[in-house]
Amino acid sequence: MAVKKRAAKKQATPRSAKTARAVFFFGNGQAQGSGAMKELLGGKGANLAEMTRLGVPVPPGFTISTEICTEFNARGGKIPDAVKRDVLEALAKIERFVEKKFGDAANPLLVSVRSGARASMPGMMDTILNLGLNDATAEGLAAQAGPRFAYDSYRRFIQMYGDVVENVPHERFETRLDELKEQRGVFQDTELGADDLKQLVAEYLEIVRDVTGKPFPQDPHEQLWGAVAAVFRSWQNDRAKKYREIHAIPESWGTAVNVQAMVFGNMGDDCATGVAFTRNPSTGDRVFYGEYLKNAQGEDVVAGIRTPQPINKGSRTAESQHLPTLEQEMPRAYKELLRVQLRLEKHYREMQDIEFTIERGKLWMLQTRTGKRTVKAAVKIAVDMAKEGLISKDVAVTRVAPESLEKLLHPTLDPDAAKELIAKGLPASPGAAVGRIVLSADEAEQRAKAGDKVVLVRIETSPDDIHGMHAAEGILTARGGMTSHAAVVARGMGKSCVAGCGALRIDAATREVRVGGQVLAAGDWITLDGASGEVFRGQVPTVTPELGGSFSDLMRWADAIRVVKVRTNADTPADAELARRFGAEGIGLCRTEHMFFEPSRILAVREMILAPDLAARERALAKLLPMQRGDFAGIFRAMAGLPVTIRLLDPPLHEFLPHGDDEIHEVAEALGESAAMVRAKVEELSEFNPMLGHRGCRLGISFPEIYRMQTRAIVEAACEVGGARGRVQPEIMLPLIAHRGELALLRKLVEDETAAVLRERPGAKVKPTIGTMIEVPRAALIADQLAELADFFSFGTNDLTQTGYALSRDDAGKFLPDYVDRGILTDDPFVSVDEEGIGALMRIGLENGRRVRGDLKVGICGEHGGDPKSVRFCARLGFDYVSCSPFRVPVARLAAAQAAAEQLAAKRAKRT
Ligand code: PEP
Ligand code: MG
Repeated sequence: MAVKKRAAKKQATPRSAKTARAVFFFGNGQAQGSGAMKELLGGKGANLAEMTRLGVPVPPGFTISTEICTEFNARGGKIPDAVKRDVLEALAKIERFVEKKFGDAANPLLVSVRSGARASMPGMMDTILNLGLNDATAEGLAAQAGPRFAYDSYRRFIQMYGDVVENVPHERFETRLDELKEQRGVFQDTELGADDLKQLVAEYLEIVRDVTGKPFPQDPHEQLWGAVAAVFRSWQNDRAKKYREIHAIPESWGTAVNVQAMVFGNMGDDCATGVAFTRNPSTGDRVFYGEYLKNAQGEDVVAGIRTPQPINKGSRTAESQHLPTLEQEMPRAYKELLRVQLRLEKHYREMQDIEFTIERGKLWMLQTRTGKRTVKAAVKIAVDMAKEGLISKDVAVTRVAPESLEKLLHPTLDPDAAKELIAKGLPASPGAAVGRIVLSADEAEQRAKAGDKVVLVRIETSPDDIHGMHAAEGILTARGGMTSHAAVVARGMGKSCVAGCGALRIDAATREVRVGGQVLAAGDWITLDGASGEVFRGQVPTVTPELGGSFSDLMRWADAIRVVKVRTNADTPADAELARRFGAEGIGLCRTEHMFFEPSRILAVREMILAPDLAARERALAKLLPMQRGDFAGIFRAMAGLPVTIRLLDPPLHEFLPHGDDEIHEVAEALGESAAMVRAKVEELSEFNPMLGHRGCRLGISFPEIYRMQTRAIVEAACEVGGARGRVQPEIMLPLIAHRGELALLRKLVEDETAAVLRERPGAKVKPTIGTMIEVPRAALIADQLAELADFFSFGTNDLTQTGYALSRDDAGKFLPDYVDRGILTDDPFVSVDEEGIGALMRIGLENGRRVRGDLKVGICGEHGGDPKSVRFCARLGFDYVSCSPFRVPVARLAAAQAAAEQLAAKRAKRT
C-alpha cells in the first residue's frame, strides 16, 4: 500500500513542474495551444489548435491536457478543482463566440467531448456528442431546429452517455430502437418521426434509470464532468490497452479531452458529414479522396451503416459509381473543403486524414491528422512529395516504416491462376490473403495461435475486434465503406481487407456464410484480393511482385544516405539472386550445412561421418568435394564479384544421421555397414544439449579433413569463377570460436589448404580472408585476442542470445519463461538487440576488436540483422554491414538509411 501511495504522489506532481496551464482554448483564429504540443494536447487537440491558428474554420472549444489524465487516474478518478475552474472559464468563452449558453433552455450550447491521445488510436476510446441536452434544452432546440432533429439528437446523446459514462450496455438501446422501427414498419432510423423519437427518449431515460438505479443527469455541468471523467477512464479500458500493446504506446502518455461546440451535419439536406484524405490512402495517388453522408451525424460515416457518397469523381468506386458527389450537391462547401485540404497538406507537409461537417451549407473542420495509408501508398506519397518539393529526399526516406516494406515484396494473387470469384466488395486495403473463414475475433486469435491461417469475416468490425484483426491474414466485411473501421484499421496494420461486400450473409447460428446461392462454412478456405475487392473460394496461388517506380526511387535515396552495407543470408544461388534483386551487397552468411542435407548428397555425408578411419573418411569427402565446389561456384556467380562469407560446417554431426529404425537399416544397407554399427555411431554422436558441445569449430578441430575439404572447395570454386582477374571475394568464417587457440589452429588450417590449392593453380588471384563469428559471450570478451587472428568479425546473435541469456525458444518461437510478458525485458531478445540486452556484449566485442585492429570489418548475421531496431543499433555502433534473409534486405536498407538520417540530424543539432 505504501508503495502505491508513493507512486501516486510522484505521478500527481508533473503538471505544476512542467506547465501551469491545464486547459487550452481555441476558436475564432486564436489558440492557446499549437500543433507542436502533441504530448500535452494529444494529436487531435494539438491539430485543432493548429488548424484554428491557420484560419481554417474550426468550431471553438478547449483541450484538457494529457497531464490531467495521469493526475486523474493517479488520484483515483478525481478532476482537480483548479481544472474545473479553468474549464468553466473556457466554456464561457465558447458561449461568447457562438452566442449560445450551456444549459440555457431557450438557446442551448451543446458540446462534443472526445478523447485524443498523443498517437492516433482510431475508435479506441470514447466520444460523446450533443452533451448539454436535457428535457428542457431539448425543447429549446426543438423550437430552433425542429422537434425531429432535437429528439434525434437527445436520444443519441442518452445512448452515448449511457454507454460511455454509466456503463449501460448499448444493446439495450439498440434493441429498443429496432423494436420501434419494426412496430412502425420502417427500416431506416431516418424514417422515424418526431413523436417516435420523443417516445424513444422517454424509454431511453427509463433504461438508464433501470440499469443505474438513478435518474439520467439533467444538469449539463454534471453531464460534462461525468463525460470528462469517462474519457480519462477510457484510457484504461481493454480496447485501449490492447491497442497500446499492439502499437507499443506507453501507458504513461494518457489522453487529452477535447470539448468543442457542436456543429450539426444532420439538420437537413443542406447538412452533411464526411471523412477525407488529401491523397488516396490505398494507392497514394495525388487525388483528394473521401466520402460523406448527407443529413448525418458524427460517427455515421465510419460506422458503415449507410453507404457513403463519394466527395468527387476521383473518389468513386464501382459501388458508388451512380451516386451524386459532394462537388455536385454542395459545390460551394466542396470548393472551400478543397481549399482547406490543400492548405492543410501544404502546412503539415504530410498526407492528412480530415473530418468535416457541413451545417446549413457552412463548412467546419473537426479534425486533421496524419493519414494512415497502405505501404504502397506510403512509398508513393513520400516519393511524390519529395519530387513536388514539399519535403527533402532525406525526409522522404524517414516517412516509410522499414518493417512495412516486406509486405510490398511478398506475393500477390497469381493473375494466371484459375479462380472462382464468389463476391466483390470495396478494395479497402491491398494485398492477397488466403485463409480459413473465422466468424469472430476470438476465434481468429485462437486459430492463428494454433498455427492456422485465417480470414476474419464479419458484418462489420468494431474496436472490440482488434485482436482478431491482428491475428488474421485478412478481413472481409459485409458492410462499411472505404473509411469504415475495418478499412482504416486494416490499412494501418498492412492487412488485406475487402469491406462493404453487400452480397455476404453471415449466419452466426449455423456458422455459415452465404453468397449468391453458395454456402461456405466456417473453416473453409477463401482468398481475398484487397486491391480489387474480389473474394474467391479456396486457396488461390500467389506471385512475387515486380519492384519499380516509387519503390526504386525511395530505395535509391535510402542507399545514397546510408553508411552501413546490407548483405544477405543465402545458401543457394536462387536465394542469392533473389537477394541481389532486393539490393543485397554481398552474402553475410552462407550456411554450408544446408547443402549437406540435400537428398542427392546426404548419403555421402553419412558415409563421411560413419567412416571407421581417416582413409575411409577422406574417400567420402572426395565425393563431397565436387558437389561443394559446384555449390560455391553457383553462389559466386550469382553474386558477381560481391563479397561472400562462407561459414565452415557448424551443426553437430548426429543431426545428419538417421533416427528411426527403418531409416537406420536403409542407410546401413546403402553403405554396406551393419545396422548395429550405425546405431552405435548415432548414440556416440548424440548430445544432451545440441546448442553447445561438439559442434562449430570444435568439429573442425576433431575432423580437420572436413574443414580442409570445404576450404579447398571454396578456393577452387573461386579460382574457377574469378579466373585470372580474381573477381570473387570469398570470406571464410569459423563458427563458435571461444578461445584464441581454436582460431589460431583453424586459421592455419585454412591458410595451408588455400596455399595448397593456389600452388596447384599458378597465376590465380584469389585471396580469401579469414574471420570468426562472435556468438558466445567469451568471444566478445576476448575479442582483442581474436582480432589479432581475424580479418573480420560477424556477430552470430542467434547463439549469442541463447548463450548470453541461457534462453532458448520452443517450436512456436516463444522463449520460456517469457521475459517480455514478465516485464524483465521490453523487447523480445530474439528479435531486437540493444544496449540493455545482448547489444552490450556486441559493443564490448566491437570495441575490443577495433582497439587492436582499427580496420577490422564487423558485421552481424543473426536474425537481428533484418530487424530495423537492431539495424539502427548496429549502425550507431559503427558496424560495416548487416546481413539478413532476402526479403528483409530492403527493410534493412531503409532502416540503415534512417539511422544515418538520425545521426546526421543529431550532428546538425549539436553544431547549432
Ligand atoms: C547465429 O548464431 O546467429 C548464426 C547466424 O548462426 P546459426 O543461426 O546458424 O546458429
Ligand atoms: Mg550460430
